[in-house]
Amino acid sequence: PDARAPHAPDPGTPRPEDVAARFTAAFGHAPDGVWTAPGRVNLIGEHTDYNEGFVLPFAIDRSAAVAVKLREGTTARLLSSYGDQVVATVDLATLSHSTMGGWTAYPLGVVWVLRQMGVAIGGFDLFLHSTVPTGAGLSSSAAIECAVASAFNELCGAGLSASQLVLVGQRAENEVVGAPTGILDQSASLLSTDGHAIFLDCRSQESKLVPLDLAAAGLLILVVDTKVSHAHATGGYAARRASCELGAEVLGVHALRDVAEADLPEAAGLLDAETFRRVRHIVTEDQRVLDTVAVLADAGPSAIGALLTASHASMRDDFEISCAELDLAVDTALANGALGARMTGGGFGGSAIALIPAAGEAMVRAAVVRAFAEAGFTAPEIFAVSPAPGARRAL
Ligand code: ADP
Ligand code: MG
Repeated sequence: PDARAPHAPDPGTPRPEDVAARFTAAFGHAPDGVWTAPGRVNLIGEHTDYNEGFVLPFAIDRSAAVAVKLREGTTARLLSSYGDQVVATVDLATLSHSTMGGWTAYPLGVVWVLRQMGVAIGGFDLFLHSTVPTGAGLSSSAAIECAVASAFNELCGAGLSASQLVLVGQRAENEVVGAPTGILDQSASLLSTDGHAIFLDCRSQESKLVPLDLAAAGLLILVVDTKVSHAHATGGYAARRASCELGAEVLGVHALRDVAEADLPEAAGLLDAETFRRVRHIVTEDQRVLDTVAVLADAGPSAIGALLTASHASMRDDFEISCAELDLAVDTALANGALGARMTGGGFGGSAIALIPAAGEAMVRAAVVRAFAEAGFTAPEIFAVSPAPGARRAL
């Protein structure tokens, strides 16, 4: 595994007044407005999205904020507070989805998609400040896309609904950035409400808000960013998708969503051992998402721990997308009082989440830091997240 360059942005949501002030300092005039959109944690439901199944993410209290001002002409100037902090200047008249690269592919990808849809976007200045750690599995990319899509939707009077903006963000990610992701991240960022998770049916694209009041239950969710991004993450993701498609084909279903747990014994006889394990993860994970929604409604968040931990075991043993650092974070959290823990996101690195009693936070943090040091792993970054509102205009 390669350790990513450290990027530890300040916690919390960016202050819109600060973002506007930094825009003004950079470009010499005030922005038309500031829009924010959060990152997300997926509580449960991993790799189920492209199998037309179920996911249960929530928006977190870390966001991308963009300040934007429309200008005459076709020149776009973009600056982020992260990275090299050099203004990128682009002529929108010659913008092509195949030539965009680097971080500006995220905002410009959204602009490109909106222009494809007939939204009249001319020149603009854009400043981005995000508190979502990059590449940690918390969807810093969708946060940017959703903030930018919200900004231009309003500034250019496009009148698109939040569900339509989800698809704009997804198209930017698929067609411009080139990441074959589903609608999970953008849905969480755009459709979430404070204090809720969002249950998403990736077949019908219908969503339902699910109350998730951790504080009332005396709980919190810790994110352990392992700082690991394995070189084979992209290849591994594609290979898992291919396994799922093969499984669906052999089993004669449109998508693995259509396979029930009761069908698994028969499926075992039809599939090779590895494909069967991949299928079993998806089928049982879909059921765990449904169970989590039911348990949250009946008994509240303190009762979902075992489902989270079972999800991790399934990803580790059946889907094989965990790694030593993620397993250590999960095992250490569980050994120190966590009610449940699992890796979250696409896998092969990124973050784990642990559902813990709020009173046990210091102990879990210390134990995970110690365990990583003893194993010789890069020090993880650990922070609490809570369900937060979705994308909105902040100034
Ligand atoms: P994730 O979405 O899980 O954080 P991705 O690889 O999908 O990981 O997206 C990370 C990329 O998004 C970064 O490599 C960078 O190009 C872009 N990005 C994220 N945050 C920022 C930021 N604050 N400024 C500039 N680019 C950013
Ligand atoms: Mg991403």
